[in-house]
Amino acid sequence: MERISWNQYFMAQSHLLALRSTCERLAVGATIVRDKRIIAGGYNGSIAGDVHCADVGCYVIDHHCVRTIHAEMNAILQCAKFGAPTADAEIYVTHFPCLQCCKAIIQAGIRTVYYAKDYKNHPYAIDLFEQAGVQTEQVELDEMIIDLKNQEKLAFVADLIGKLSESGLSETEIRDMHEKANQLFTSYV
Ligand SMILES: [Zn+2]
Ligand SMILES: [Zn+2]
Repeated sequence: MERISWNQYFMAQSHLLALRSTCERLAVGATIVRDKRIIAGGYNGSIAGDVHCADVGCYVIDHHCVRTIHAEMNAILQCAKFGAPTADAEIYVTHFPCLQCCKAIIQAGIRTVYYAKDYKNHPYAIDLFEQAGVQTEQVELDEMIIDLKNQEKLAFVADLIGKLSESGLSETEIRDMHEKANQLFTSYV
């Protein structure tokens, strides 16, 4: 069994949080980490008590949904609310932060931004991160990590292919199936 890396562990957490998003335009998750401990997490959604975009549609002004607060902001504000220092912390986000979140991340004293996907990476945000000495690093999530039944599935498919082979399927067809199964189930950590 392969041991999951810290980067993959925290990034997986952000992807799980993104599943809680209530805005249909983009689902984002953010996890703030200090000394390898998760201190806060957030996703993009409405202010507590307000209606959800998923229920009533987005509130769009100038091509942006203004109803939601971004995942990174939610995570930082959770630290403010419950008194957890963000100085020298790291943040794991599913998407490269927008300009507003970039500024908040810098002011919160966060030192490293790990992001899974590029997202309209603003040149000014990149400049600001550089100026502030905030490191940015792309960490793509290995999707196999959150598939808890991966090994079971692989064993099941291998068994099926074995049976097909016994029942006289051609070698080429069997080889193609093996290749496809490996593509689908093999971890590439
Ligand atoms: Zn929305
Ligand atoms: Zn943002």
